[in-house]
Amino acid sequence: MTTETFEFQVEARQLLQLMIHSVYSNKDVFLRELVSNASDALDKLRLASLREDAPDADVSDLHIELETDPDVRTLTVRDNGIGMSYEEVTRLIGTIANSGTAKFLEELREAKDAAGADGLIGRFGVGFYSGFMVADEVTLVTRHAGETQGTRWTSKGEGTYTLERLDEAPQGTSVTLHLKPADSDDQLHDYTSEWKIREIVKKYSDFITWPVRLLPRPGEDDAAEAREAETLNSMKALWARPRDEVSDEEYHELYKHIGHDWRDPLETIRLQAEGTFEYQALLFVPAHAPHDLFTQGYQRGVQLYVKRVFIMDDCEELLPPYLRFVKGVVDAQDLSLNVSREILQQDRHIRMIQRRLTKKVLSTVKDLRTSAPERYATFWREFGAVLKEGLVTDSDNRDAILAASSFESTHDADAPTALNAYVERMKDGQDAVYYLTGESRGAIENSPHMEAFRAKGVEVLLLTDAVDEVWVDAVGEYDGKPLRSVAKGEIDLSGTEDDKNEEEKEKQGEEYAGLLGWMSEHLAEEVKEVRLSSRLTVSPACVVSDAGELTPALENMYRAMGQEVPGAKRILELNPEHQLVKSLNRAWTDRADRAELTETAELLHALAVLAEGGRPKDPSRFVQLMADRLERTV
Ligand code: ADP
Repeated sequence: MTTETFEFQVEARQLLQLMIHSVYSNKDVFLRELVSNASDALDKLRLASLREDAPDADVSDLHIELETDPDVRTLTVRDNGIGMSYEEVTRLIGTIANSGTAKFLEELREAKDAAGADGLIGRFGVGFYSGFMVADEVTLVTRHAGETQGTRWTSKGEGTYTLERLDEAPQGTSVTLHLKPADSDDQLHDYTSEWKIREIVKKYSDFITWPVRLLPRPGEDDAAEAREAETLNSMKALWARPRDEVSDEEYHELYKHIGHDWRDPLETIRLQAEGTFEYQALLFVPAHAPHDLFTQGYQRGVQLYVKRVFIMDDCEELLPPYLRFVKGVVDAQDLSLNVSREILQQDRHIRMIQRRLTKKVLSTVKDLRTSAPERYATFWREFGAVLKEGLVTDSDNRDAILAASSFESTHDADAPTALNAYVERMKDGQDAVYYLTGESRGAIENSPHMEAFRAKGVEVLLLTDAVDEVWVDAVGEYDGKPLRSVAKGEIDLSGTEDDKNEEEKEKQGEEYAGLLGWMSEHLAEEVKEVRLSSRLTVSPACVVSDAGELTPALENMYRAMGQEVPGAKRILELNPEHQLVKSLNRAWTDRADRAELTETAELLHALAVLAEGGRPKDPSRFVQLMADRLERTV
């Protein structure tokens, strides 16, 4: 058979370089990665055979074998699982399909020191390639169950790999590492040492549900052939063992296997249900959001087992989409091994499990807020935006989600607040929870809409995630208090101390009635009303929306999703205390027909639009009017 040579895809080459000159200090974990892949391959084959998709496959003794040869310094990890076809080897081993990897590599290049790089690498399950941390050549021989031909893949990790078709190969996959010399300074241990292998498997792969066997060395003594292979792992399902028998480290290793993460999880959640419908769940909240959390086709991470048998990855029926970052295992006792996605979607018990798991995750997060504020802060930074989707989609759990949520606020620039804490701080007479949505904290804080709130010390939530626009409308109120945008409707802060009295207001209303009527008419194309503002203390004018209306940001969002939305006209508010507005009123009362006055009205409106980060409808006309004015003043 001919051997062909191929080049690695660019990203794959970069990742390999990284592995070879590894900045990752703990090299032992390569074995965990290879055993993890082997275990997945065995799961897949058993499942195929349960579904009668692999009639010719031998599933009588599924296992993983480790074989060392100190003379030629090799370590082989072998499984008799599903294997790979020639095409799969090219696709899965020669390229990196993960879209986040390119971004990861970029960040890595920017990381200045080794410590930073170490942390970054930890974020990626680099799987198979990690073999190149300890080996200068890797050979993989594989045959897909049910196929007759096999494939041999070899590489020194330096830019190219070779592929060869084989007439014969055992079912499954074997990966042989040609080990680099041991170097204790570099934490590169002797991976032909049986003792070392035992230690690593026990530490990282004990829970693997297939036997991991260490083969006796041939020729070591005459009886070697006759000796039994030694099973290194206990194969106990962690989720079925009592909590006090399992160490945190063991849970963390399971998380790394399931979550394809190299770092410890933020939180481990255990749940056992007994009675008519029995199941065990072990869930993990990761410490970092994956890059692709918001992309379509994001792979969720809760696996379904039935009576200890792996059934599927990514079982989306087990948790709602807004908890898609949670990883883990659910093992149900009373489902059929043949269960399909279609059945799961209908299954009453699965819905029960989902409800229970959802509540448990939400209450765990809520408790973290008080029991471990730093970990809670990490959680919120990484997953807050996803969790808030639930405020829109899961009205049953709305209160629990709100209780687990935090919001940026004018109260404290460094620490987001819980809603109940906001309510406790509300001023006497304040009847609403105020918020403002926008692009960034900076942009919102400086918005003219905030002026009166700042002046009176009324706290405002500053909401900057895309989903915020939507949930505030869906939720509507908290603790009996309406959620009110400071950029919508009429704002009445009169209940909160030293506001102007009614009499004064009325007088102002009369003074300005003429100007307001005239401006409303003149700007009728742009706004539906011009009125006096109780929001402004510094700026001359601002634009606001009607209470029930979409904000411009939300309009844009719907348009981006391809939905038709009528552009709602907004309201222009003038600050009656501002010198410009006062002068305009005087000039208008003197002579209402001067051409400059209409231009000033237009300019005021454009300035208000600019101040909230918008764009005047006709920028060139705005620039021209403004330039004329400036010309006259210089
Ligand atoms: P990951 O395991 O994170 O997907 P890897 O680089 O380790 O990434 O492996 C890439 C893919 O190659 C796997 O998803 C799997 O489809 C395939 N693969 C790796 N090892 C094996 C194996 N022992 N048997 C069958 N397929 C394998």
